[in-house]
Amino acid sequence: MNAYASITITPILVADLNVEGERMPVYVHVINHPDARILVDTGMTELHPAVVAAFDPRLYPLSKQDFDLAGIDIVVNTHLHADHCGGNHLFAGKPIYVQRRELDDARSEDDYTIREWVDAPGVRYVLVEGEFELLPGLRLVPAPGHTAGMQVVVVETGGRPVVVGGDVAVWFGELDEPHSEGQLGVLALDPELVWLAHEHEPWRPRAA
Ligand SMILES: [Zn+2]
Repeated sequence: MNAYASITITPILVADLNVEGERMPVYVHVINHPDARILVDTGMTELHPAVVAAFDPRLYPLSKQDFDLAGIDIVVNTHLHADHCGGNHLFAGKPIYVQRRELDDARSEDDYTIREWVDAPGVRYVLVEGEFELLPGLRLVPAPGHTAGMQVVVVETGGRPVVVGGDVAVWFGELDEPHSEGQLGVLALDPELVWLAHEHEPWRPRAA
């Protein structure tokens, strides 16, 4: 028996984006840990002109799904692009873990995100700098590339780790042929699989 066998990860579809004529899914991930229920990224809950113009999204907000919002103890934002933080307001008062660099950039750089979604009323960030053990067997690991302040969640399984990667790779090809520091760092963990925000299935390394 290993101590981490009871950690489970569940993807939840929260939106579809139209990217160059193709529907690109947006997933968030729930990690059930013996000590807490963690939500990784929050999707979007409303249409905003900037997002409509860019992506013509269809939304399936967590608040309109059969989803127990109150059952979430901790939120992690991999990064603060609009399609990853638009539901943060649903978790006002709960700790939302993000890298300090990411929050600084989201608040200061133009056209980075929808800032009123980042700083919605009641949203409370817990700032992390570098690697951080969130719970036993669960750690936040910086993975710069897609954004400079990007982080992933690494889940120990007793065997090879599982990674909840957000946009560390937007499509599988970016892990098949990694370029960014974050992609190389994730592969260096020798993961069993990597969940991504914009793919229906987890990425798995090709058999050697
Ligand atoms: Zn992104």
